[in-house]
Amino acid sequence: MQMRSSRGWVWVAFGVVVVFLLAQVVWWLVFQRNTIQQNIEYAETAWLQEAALVQQLWAATAPEKRETLRLELQKAFPHLEVEGERVYVNPERLQAYRTEQMRHLRMFAYEGPVFLLVMLLGLYIIGRSLRSEQEFKRRQQNFLMAASHEFRTPISTLRLLAQTLTMRELPREKQLAYLEHMTHEIDRMEDLTERLLATSRLAQGMGQIKPERHDLNQAVSRCLARQQQTLAARGAVLHLEPAPTPLPVDLDPEAFALVLSNLLDNAIKYSPQPEKPIWVRLHSRGGQAVLEVEDRGVGLSKGQLQQIFEPFYRVGDEQTRRTRGLGLGLYLVKSITELMGGRVWAEALPQGSRFVLSFPLVEAQGLVGERRPA
Ligand code: ADP
Repeated sequence: MQMRSSRGWVWVAFGVVVVFLLAQVVWWLVFQRNTIQQNIEYAETAWLQEAALVQQLWAATAPEKRETLRLELQKAFPHLEVEGERVYVNPERLQAYRTEQMRHLRMFAYEGPVFLLVMLLGLYIIGRSLRSEQEFKRRQQNFLMAASHEFRTPISTLRLLAQTLTMRELPREKQLAYLEHMTHEIDRMEDLTERLLATSRLAQGMGQIKPERHDLNQAVSRCLARQQQTLAARGAVLHLEPAPTPLPVDLDPEAFALVLSNLLDNAIKYSPQPEKPIWVRLHSRGGQAVLEVEDRGVGLSKGQLQQIFEPFYRVGDEQTRRTRGLGLGLYLVKSITELMGGRVWAEALPQGSRFVLSFPLVEAQGLVGERRPA
């Protein structure tokens, strides 16, 4: 709320500065135009007066001295002409003076808008950096809230279970069930800590990837086989559509497993219906091996498709959001995929969303030995 009202003030201040700048430039141009017109009028009057004076001087000068006077007049008053008895202002000189003055005016007329544009550009850049700073603060706050929530929940559960186990005599099966629950919570905290560590390693440019030549079909099937039970228990209904031929790519199997499990985890998390259909498709296109993970969940708007890959970005507000998460999953997906030489992007569907990974296809020779699934 406070942030929103301070943003309002920033916009008001921005508007005031823009109006002030516009007024200043318009006033400056009008002032310059008036000054230049005054200069022209002043010069015309002054030159006419000079012509009248020189006329008198010319008339009073003896004919034999006129040639000397003419030379002196040419030096002192180059804008005057003497013809017989008549002294007058040279119209070409007058026109040249006018043109010169108008050229100054035109110069100011170009400089004014350029100055205004530069100032507006400067303001725009300042405004943008202020906005991104505010956005960063908002994400930081969201992250802190999400992180404390993510750690507090398993800690409270662990404390409760540990207290129950200490204070009550329970049958062995119950004890084992509690211990399993505790292990699950510990795994969750370990996973969170791993994500935080991986993020900080990537942020410091210390991400380590060991790419080997793998068939992407095989890599995906292995990951899915490993996670199938957990995914099914969370309501996922997987549809795997492998490519008809092997897709040799360079990837680090462990890092790739983390990428795919993040995408699947999101597909489940952001599909509110009890049965969550997820399509995992593989094919080759234009020298690339392409992997798509598609869901029928809440979906994404076009404006969010880029932002979701930024660290700590989560759609909506932390107080109104019900799903767990720290906003790091897709950042890790993107960073790790790029470290392996691939690309990732998201697509908004009429219902749900699609995440696409693409890796350059390489020679099939030297594939790390795996059998194709039956
Ligand atoms: P987290 O899931 O921990 O919030 P992620 O980095 O994995 O962080 O995702 C960032 C945001 O992108 C999520 O908060 C969510 O709003 C949005 N998002 C990610 N995957 C999906 C999806 N499959 N469908 C809809 N929204 C998604």
